[in-house]
Amino acid sequence: MAEFTMELNDEQKEVRDWLHGFAADVIRPAAAEWDEREETPWPVIQEAAKVGIYSLDFYAQQYFDSTGLGIPMAMEELFWGDAGIALSIVGTGLAAVGVLANGTEEQIGTWIPQMYGDASDVKVAAFCSSEPDAGSDVASMRTRAVYDEAKDEWVINGTKTWATNGGIANVHVVVASVDPELGSKGHASFIVPPNTPGCSQGQKFKKHGIRASHTAEVILDNVRVPGSCLLGGKEKLDERLARAREKARKGGERVKNAAMATFEASRPAVGAMAVGTARAAYEVALDYAKTREQFGRPIIDNQGVAFQLADMATSVDAARLMVWRASWMAINGKRFTAAEGSMSKLFASETAKKVTAQAIQILGGNGYTREYPVERMHRDAAIYTIFEGTSEIQRLVIARTISGQPIR
Ligand SMILES: Cc1cc2nc3c(=O)[nH]c(=O)nc-3n(C[C@H](O)[C@H](O)[C@H](O)COP(=O)(O)OP(=O)(O)OC[C@H]3O[C@@H](n4cnc5c(N)ncnc54)[C@H](O)[C@@H]3O)c2cc1C
Repeated sequence: MAEFTMELNDEQKEVRDWLHGFAADVIRPAAAEWDEREETPWPVIQEAAKVGIYSLDFYAQQYFDSTGLGIPMAMEELFWGDAGIALSIVGTGLAAVGVLANGTEEQIGTWIPQMYGDASDVKVAAFCSSEPDAGSDVASMRTRAVYDEAKDEWVINGTKTWATNGGIANVHVVVASVDPELGSKGHASFIVPPNTPGCSQGQKFKKHGIRASHTAEVILDNVRVPGSCLLGGKEKLDERLARAREKARKGGERVKNAAMATFEASRPAVGAMAVGTARAAYEVALDYAKTREQFGRPIIDNQGVAFQLADMATSVDAARLMVWRASWMAINGKRFTAAEGSMSKLFASETAKKVTAQAIQILGGNGYTREYPVERMHRDAAIYTIFEGTSEIQRLVIARTISGQPIR
């Protein structure tokens, strides 16, 4: 087990500087344009693919870094560049992790390359879990997958919503209920291969922030996928369902789960995205406060401004500390006895919202315009307290964990 450290090693520093260069030279200059266009920034993804940032290899290398700092460091740098574009770059990774975590070796080898494509023909993937009536309460999912034994095919019906890359993805990873009685214990994940009949994009959302990333509904209308598209395979699913049914029978009640116990290990990555946005806004505000003069002196010479910046710097640092600790715990298999993963996501995402608002205030009228980036950063920051579990759900998980109650 790697000791917890806040000091990046030489190799990590090299990767961080390389990512920072890409974020500063390629992502930042494109940010305002793609925010206005509200489209997936394909040319930027292609650039990222050319240099190796948009690839499974890169993602996996950071993911399996035993210090736990690889992913948070990478997320912070990319999202420091721009949150919308960065989400378009890492969105496929979120779907790929679903396959890496639950798929067989054959499924990983078949589908992950098709999620990324290659530098001359980049593709994206989508992870589709949320539904119009099942957001925080994942257990109430209505999308059903029914096994057609005669054809060895799964038939999927339902509507997914809020899917990043939904409808434009080459490969969709879809979570569906195979046994509604078991709540989320009866869920399974399926690959929906490219051009599968019945899988289509519904409404594309016009969003408040992260507008350079595509978010849409995905309609699944009698979608038939081969048995081999069930992640992990049928035997494993049947065993898992049998265990869950037995537990439910013994417990004497329907097994219910509201997506609260899971994600503890993946939430710090979202916290790291928030740290990137918060740090970016803080830096803009600090530079501005040092150069903008009013009443014959830089505005930072006023304690009212300087103290705000001191609070912003402190919060960003504290958020990073919490995120790095939780990431280290996750990779080293430590138990989240105080829901440290949820804590890190809660604190970092609330910090990003607050710090970006403070940055607007420090830039005054300029901060309120699209001539300066903090207005966009503030709109972007609002997503962190919503996706991958809202702030209220994080508090619920933390409260139940520290009070010893079951997390449903
Ligand atoms: C831009 C964007 C991208 C997304 N990308 C994806 C994606 O790629 N794949 C995917 O599957 N999903 C994705 N999501 C969905 C996201 O995870 C959900 O929006 C989120 O889980 C919240 O669900 P909801 O929107 O239905 O809100 P709801 O669950 O309806 O919540 C509404 C409000 O009620 C509060 N609330 C709900 N239950 C409780 C409770 N028990 N106690 C206290 N408060 C509660 C919430 O905190 C929130 O404030 C994305 C969402 C957005 C906006």
